[in-house]
Amino acid sequence: MARKVSEIFAENVFTETAMKSYLSEDAFLSVMAATKTGHKIDRKIADQVASAMKSWAISKGATHYTHWFQPLTGATAEKHDAFFQLSGTNRGMEVFDSNALVQQEPDASSFPSGGLRNTFEARGYSAWDPSSPAFLMEVGIGKTLCIPTIFVSYNGQALDFKAPLLKSLQALETAAVEVCHYFDKNVTRVVPTLGWEQEYFVVDEALYEARPDLVFSGRTLIGHAPAKGQQLEDHYFGSIPERVYAFMLDFEMESFRLGIPLKTRHNEVAPSQFEVAPYFEEVNVAVDHNQLLMDVMQRVARRHKLRVILHEKPFAGINGSGKHNNWSMATDTGKNLLSPGRTPKTNLQFLTFFINVIKAVSEGDDIIRASIASAANDFRLGANEAPPAIISVFIGSYMTEILGEIESKVESGKFTEESEQSLRLEIHNKIPALMQDNTDRNRTSPFAFTGNKFEVRAVGSSQNCSATMTVLNTIVADQLVAFKKEVDALIYNGKNREVALMEVLKGYITESKKILFEGNNYSDEWEEEAARRGLNNIKNAPRALDFMITKKSIDLFVRNDVFTEEEIHARHEIELEKYIKIVQIEGRIIGELVMNQIVPVAIQYENELINNIRGHNEIGLHVSLSESQRNLVSDISGHVNTIVKLVNEMTEARKAANHIENIRDRAIAYCDLVKPFFEEIRYHTDKLELIVDDKLWPLPKYRELLFMR
Ligand code: ADP
Ligand code: MG
Repeated sequence: MARKVSEIFAENVFTETAMKSYLSEDAFLSVMAATKTGHKIDRKIADQVASAMKSWAISKGATHYTHWFQPLTGATAEKHDAFFQLSGTNRGMEVFDSNALVQQEPDASSFPSGGLRNTFEARGYSAWDPSSPAFLMEVGIGKTLCIPTIFVSYNGQALDFKAPLLKSLQALETAAVEVCHYFDKNVTRVVPTLGWEQEYFVVDEALYEARPDLVFSGRTLIGHAPAKGQQLEDHYFGSIPERVYAFMLDFEMESFRLGIPLKTRHNEVAPSQFEVAPYFEEVNVAVDHNQLLMDVMQRVARRHKLRVILHEKPFAGINGSGKHNNWSMATDTGKNLLSPGRTPKTNLQFLTFFINVIKAVSEGDDIIRASIASAANDFRLGANEAPPAIISVFIGSYMTEILGEIESKVESGKFTEESEQSLRLEIHNKIPALMQDNTDRNRTSPFAFTGNKFEVRAVGSSQNCSATMTVLNTIVADQLVAFKKEVDALIYNGKNREVALMEVLKGYITESKKILFEGNNYSDEWEEEAARRGLNNIKNAPRALDFMITKKSIDLFVRNDVFTEEEIHARHEIELEKYIKIVQIEGRIIGELVMNQIVPVAIQYENELINNIRGHNEIGLHVSLSESQRNLVSDISGHVNTIVKLVNEMTEARKAANHIENIRDRAIAYCDLVKPFFEEIRYHTDKLELIVDDKLWPLPKYRELLFMR
C-alpha cells in the first residue's frame, strides 16, 4: 500500500522539525529568529546548523553536498563536493562545517556576468540563504544535500536571480509594514506570496530525439500544422493520457518529498499541453520550488521515455506555454492584504494596497514588460493566445464601480470625516458582491485582480519567476513609500487620517486610469486604444529591454537598494547576449536542418517524379496525362530553389550582424534582419512537407509529436 502524501511530504527537506531534532534548543531558536527577521546567523550557530544538516543528510544516505543557485542562464547550477575527507592514510571521515555551509567559491567565469567580472577576477561566491530550506536531491541512487544560495561576484554584485529578489522582498516588506501601521500597529512582518501555474508540453522521447530543432533549441523550427490542431478544444480538461498520467504521478511524488505543495494538474488548451500548480508560498520559497520542479519534471520524464518541453512556443499554430504568477502580500497577523475585509476599517486597508498596486503598475508597466522579455516569449505575447505586449490591469466590474465612487465622492477640501465614514460604509456594503464576483472572467489581461491576489499572466513558461517578482516587489515598495509620505504630509497638516488616506487614494485612481482595461486584450481595438492612451506595445525583446536601463528604472532600483546601476547594465547586457545567442543558434539549426535533411529529400522525391514522367514518355503516354506530376516537380523545384537562396541570404545577414560592435544594435539586427528569414524558410519547407512522400520525410511531424496516447 502506497504511503499517504501527508506522510511523505517534505521528507527530503531539512524542515523546522528536522532542524529541531538535530539542533540544541538555543541554536534552533536563534536560527528561527534569524530566518524570520532576515538577520545574519553568527558563526557558532552556523557551525551547529552545518553539523545538524550533515547528520540529517547522511542519515538519509547523502554522500555529497552542493550550493544550489540560480545563475542568469535561467537554469539552476550545482557543484557537488563529497562530505568525505581524508584524515590519514586510508582513513577518512565525513566533514561539513560552517565554512562549507555559509560560503563557497564556484568558478564564476562560465556564468553570464555582463562584464561585472573581469576575466582575471573570475571568482564568484555562493552564500547560504537560510530563508529557503536545504533539501536532498535524489538522482538515480545518488543523494546530494542542496543548500539554496545567492550567487555574487567577488565585489558583491549579483550574478543571479535570487540576490535581487531577496532585496526586493526586503524593500517591499519594510514599506508595507509601515503602511499597515495606519490600520494595525501589531503588524511586524509582511510577506509577499506567490502561487505559480506552470504550463508544459510532453512528447515521446524517441520522436523528440529525432528532431534536432527540439533538442537544440527547445522548439520546432519547421513543421506544418496538423489537419486537426486545437480547433475542437477537446483536449482542455479532457482525460489525461495514461502514459502522461504515470509521469505526472511520479514527478508529483518526488515533488511532495521535496516539500513542493503541488495542488492542481490538468490538460491545457493545446494537444499534449498540461499545467501543474501548487499552493502559494512565500515568494522566495515559491521561486525555488518552481525552479526545482522544472528540474525534477525533466528528469522524471526521461524515466518514462518522455520529454518535457518548457519552451514558450514549441509548436507554431498552437498555443504556447506561460507561467501565471499569482501574487499577494500577507501579514504576520494572518491577513492577506489584497483580500477584502469583514469590517469597513479592514476594507480601507485592502483598498489602500489594491490601489497602490495599480498605481505602481501604471508607473512601472514598461519595466514589467522588460522583465518578461525573451526571444521565446516574443512568440507568445500578442499572438492571440497570451496577453499582448501591452501591460494593463483588469480589476472586474465591482472594483471598477468602487473606484469610480471614490473618485466622484472624494473632493479635496470638502471631504470630511463624516463623508469619509459614510463612503467607507457604502463601499463595505458592496464587498460581499465583489467576493462573489471573483473577478476572474477576463482571461486575456496580462495583470488581473482575481478576488484576493493579482495574477501576472505574461510570464513565460521557462522563465525564472524572480525577474518579474523582483520588479513587482520593487515598484510596489517604491509606491508604498511615496504613498506614506503623501499621507503623512496631509496628517501633519491636520487632516484626519482616514480622510488623508482617501484623498491620496482618490488622486491615484485618477492618475492611473490609463492602465485599467476591462475589455478583450487580444483585440485590435485594444491596440489602437492603448496607443491613444500612450501605453507602450513593444513586440520584441531587444527593444522591450531598453526599459530596464532608462533613468526611471535605474533610479527606482537604486533608490530601493535592489540593484546598483552597474548591476542593471550588466543584466541588460546579459539579456541582449542571450537573445543574440538564441537567434543565432536557431538560425544555424534551421540552415543545417533544411540543407542537410529537407532539401536532399525533396530532390529525391523530385527525381522519383521525373523518372515517373520519363516512364510516361517511354510508354508513349499523352503529355497531358503527366501534367500533374510536372506541376509537382516544378513546385518542388521552386520551393527548393527559394529555400537555398534564403538560407544563403540568412547566413550573410548573420555574418553582417556579428560584425556590429554595439550589443544592442547587434541584437536589433538579429531581430529585424536575421529572424524574419525563419518564417520565410519555414513557409517553403512546410509546403514541401505537404508534397513530399511521407515515407521519405526525415522528421517526425506535428501530428505524431502532438497526438501521443
Ligand atoms: P486559476 O487561476 O487556475 O483559476 P486559482 O485562482 O485557484 O486558479 O489559483 C491559482 C494560484 O493562485 C494557485 O497557485 C493558488 O495557490 C494561488 N493563490 C491563491 N491565493 C494566493 C495568494 N494570496 N497569494 C499568492 N498566490 C495565491
Ligand atoms: Mg490562473
